[in-house]
Amino acid sequence: LTVSITHIEHIGIAVQDLERSVAFYEKTYGLRCYGIEEVPDQQVRTAFFRVGETKIELLASTSPDGPIARFLERRGEGMHHLAFAVDGLGETLRHVQDAGVELIDARPRPGAEGLQIAFLHPRSTHGVLTELCSEKES
Ligand code: ZN
Repeated sequence: LTVSITHIEHIGIAVQDLERSVAFYEKTYGLRCYGIEEVPDQQVRTAFFRVGETKIELLASTSPDGPIARFLERRGEGMHHLAFAVDGLGETLRHVQDAGVELIDARPRPGAEGLQIAFLHPRSTHGVLTELCSEKES
């Protein structure tokens, strides 16, 4: 069993107001938002920017008790998670679980941009909420 991380797929940033934050990234950094998408499963609206091979994913909550709303309440706006692109998400999850990592998602679920995703608990990843993504479930 091996893990093949190909690149940092995106960095997730929790924001209070998606439109205002998109405007900030566009105006300040000259980046262009190429997509806004609601992900009902995670109770978020997301906005994406390409930065080289990786992306910035802004996340705003669509529900007062969703995971991003709770994060904002506790920690305020800021870096929320790091997402690695992997080959074979199902196999990677089994591998990291065997390595002792606590999984938030025991199996892949649908994320933004048609990707399959799963989160690892920051308790067992040195404090970084980590998302694994792949093009399709394996
Ligand atoms: Zn993400």
